[in-house]
Amino acid sequence: MSSDRKLGFDTLQIHAGAKPDPATGARQVPIYQTTAYVFRDAEHAARLFNLEEVGYIYSRLTNPTVMALAERVAALEGGAGAVCCSSGHAAQIMALFPLMAPGRNIVASTRLYGGTITQFSQTIRRFGWSAKFVDFDDPAAIEAAIDSDTRALFCETIANPGGVITDLDAVSAIADRMGLPLIVDNTTATPWLCRPIEHGATLVVHSATKYLTGNGTVTGGVIVDSGKFDWSASDKFPSLSQPEPAYHGLVFHKALGPMAYTFHSIAVGLRDLGMTMNPQGAHYTLMGIETLSLRMARHVENAQKVAAWLEQDPRVEFVSYAGLPSSPWHGRVARICPKGAGALFTFAVKGGYDACVALVDALQLFSHVANLGDTRSLVIHSASTTHRQLTPEQQVAAGAAPNVVRISIGIEDADDLIADLDQALAKATA
Ligand SMILES: *Cc1c(COP(=O)(O)O)cnc(C)c1O
Repeated sequence: MSSDRKLGFDTLQIHAGAKPDPATGARQVPIYQTTAYVFRDAEHAARLFNLEEVGYIYSRLTNPTVMALAERVAALEGGAGAVCCSSGHAAQIMALFPLMAPGRNIVASTRLYGGTITQFSQTIRRFGWSAKFVDFDDPAAIEAAIDSDTRALFCETIANPGGVITDLDAVSAIADRMGLPLIVDNTTATPWLCRPIEHGATLVVHSATKYLTGNGTVTGGVIVDSGKFDWSASDKFPSLSQPEPAYHGLVFHKALGPMAYTFHSIAVGLRDLGMTMNPQGAHYTLMGIETLSLRMARHVENAQKVAAWLEQDPRVEFVSYAGLPSSPWHGRVARICPKGAGALFTFAVKGGYDACVALVDALQLFSHVANLGDTRSLVIHSASTTHRQLTPEQQVAAGAAPNVVRISIGIEDADDLIADLDQALAKATA
């Protein structure tokens, strides 16, 4: 193979980051279940600790199984480097960590995963960080919210639970103009449907718990760095552009260029926050990712069929799915995620809150769980569960109004899913 030939997505999802094991020739990536790694000699150990040589020291920092996954996700997203974390929420804290300090803020979309809204509106305040939530369909509102303490913009590609597609091109144009990094949570789209870096994102975060693993077996997270942001263009990011006191004064951006953010996240972030992915978890996600494109194609095909069926049903008030022409966000599909609008959407049941709860109880094939992106179809009533901590106004803004049910369409036979919804709607609206 000539080295200038770029490998396709389906090839990368199987091969990127993996090579036959140097010790045994094992073809599959082994689970390196080890805490530490023997140094060749004292000189080798010193070079590793100085980041003069890349190698393994201790599995809180790096582990070969986990690194294989990081390289694979970086390749699929088109990034320079990636860091795996213990969960999607850990990835979000880790993504912000090199950028933030007490008194700093982020400007985030109102349309986010419920747990992310809680993390950003409540928990990060304990660190002295804060978030300002604005409608990311309103560029003027984003710009108005940015102040001299803002250090990042944050949004989701396809916002859970409303299936809303963010205009990443418009948002990244603002981030560029303001000299700020754009962080995009690409969990619900996956790099098969959208590669946010190609739309100007600086960092991409994932809950690997969802489609990347794909079968509901692990919690994990990943941060991918585009390697494109100039951390030294302003004095806003001293952890990367100035001597880092937490790493014997190393100037990460000067020393490591496009890999500065990734190395900082490992050498300082994982070292001191310890939100590390374990090698077993990385192994499951590596297994899942091998079939990502095949699964996503079926997820999207099924979602399109189920959404169209629900929309014509008189028991359903409306369906919020960008794959349908009725969606206000349908026009963005061709530009942002041309292979499909994902497989996660909401619909409103006539009969409101009570009918939604009855529908969830009557479904048989759909599992009632707080999860998404499984091979199995899943259902949840967000207002009474994942978005319960939010105020009614926040629920509506997040697309989780009380009369709305969220479904994550799996890769079963679409006709079976429709039959299950049909019988459950009959019971719920009787
Ligand atoms: C699940 C999810 C998260 C959080 O990930 P965990 O792995 O559960 O910590 C963040 N963002 C989105 C869009 C999610 O679906």
